[in-house]
Amino acid sequence: MSPIPPGSTVGVLGSGQLGRMLAIEARRMGYRVHTLSPDRDSPTGQIADREVVADYEDLDAVREFASRVDVVTFEFENVSSAAADAAEVFAPVRPSGAVLHTTQNRLREKRFLERGGFPCARFREVGSPEELEVAARAVGFPAVLKTAGFGYDGKGQRVVRSSAELQSAWRGLGGTVAILEELVEFEQEVSVVAARGLDGSFAHFGPVGNTHRNHILDVTVAPAPLPEALAAEAVDLARGILEALQVVGVLCVEMFLAPGGRLLVNELAPRPHNSGHYTIDACATSQFEQQLRAVCGLPLGSPIQLCPAAMANLLGDKWSHGEPNWEAALRFDRVKLHLYGKATPRPGRKMGHLTALAETAEAAEARVRAAREALTAQP
Ligand code: AMP
Repeated sequence: MSPIPPGSTVGVLGSGQLGRMLAIEARRMGYRVHTLSPDRDSPTGQIADREVVADYEDLDAVREFASRVDVVTFEFENVSSAAADAAEVFAPVRPSGAVLHTTQNRLREKRFLERGGFPCARFREVGSPEELEVAARAVGFPAVLKTAGFGYDGKGQRVVRSSAELQSAWRGLGGTVAILEELVEFEQEVSVVAARGLDGSFAHFGPVGNTHRNHILDVTVAPAPLPEALAAEAVDLARGILEALQVVGVLCVEMFLAPGGRLLVNELAPRPHNSGHYTIDACATSQFEQQLRAVCGLPLGSPIQLCPAAMANLLGDKWSHGEPNWEAALRFDRVKLHLYGKATPRPGRKMGHLTALAETAEAAEARVRAAREALTAQP
């Protein structure tokens, strides 16, 4: 298949910050960008040539959108298989609708991991109050109950510490199909963002260390403080997963490092990931350029990291006492500001991020945290 060269048009389903950062890279490399989502003046739409405002389930709109682009990719993974199939008639969809289908549902994803022999936390499917009791006996306590569909950033999950809490937790999640999973007492959370090209080539950015706050990614440190053997194992897991899913594009594998040096796969995201944002400032090729190269059938770029880095998210909470003090953060050496063009800051909403570069990952982390603190420090 011939590559989709610069000058062509990339269609992005979804219009958030991931699409925005992809669009910035695509524009830099001479591509045109169209985006489709239900939102107007979106983070991606502000950069794109064309912003289509339509529901993802409006298949006529999806068809019209796909007929005017050379390749369709996405930044929002809860696009239905029907929409991916409708688009596929007009332009290649990368990664494929099948990859979306597997990864947008925790149960399908876990079954895929299990079948492939990829290690993950013990889990059971839950579809009824009786199944919940059976699942609890197999999984034990403490456990996490997660809805099977539409979960991200900790939405749709509850920690359950005893059998007394089981039924109310499930009702609280809407009593829908869910999984009950062991609560892992992890030592670290790490992720690997990797890419697979149209020709099957593979490139990865190496494991990074993540800390979450309220189930939302807070800080990423790159590289992760992992012994070499575990870092290699994390990369091997990612390689195996991208291969088994036949991904064309970028995919992030989130993992727990459990006691005893065991890596367990927690979640897959078939697109660039928040934990890979540091690659824009710290790597020879960013995760967004890599996504563009992969979905356009171009050679993957070198993922080499040029300098240790750390990334800190800026959530809407930072605006609770007014506009953050940008000058104060930008006074820090080698700190880069990224804002996503979102008009309304809400608590928990990802508004932007800071990346810091330094001689070591620890120094980069300290620097990015200090720069973020400075945004809201009282004079
Ligand atoms: P998820 O939506 O599955 O990515 O979960 C968001 C965050 O919740 C993870 O990054 C962990 O910090 C935490 N979490 C999710 N599942 C588990 C688990 N089984 N054990 C411990 N922590 C978990």
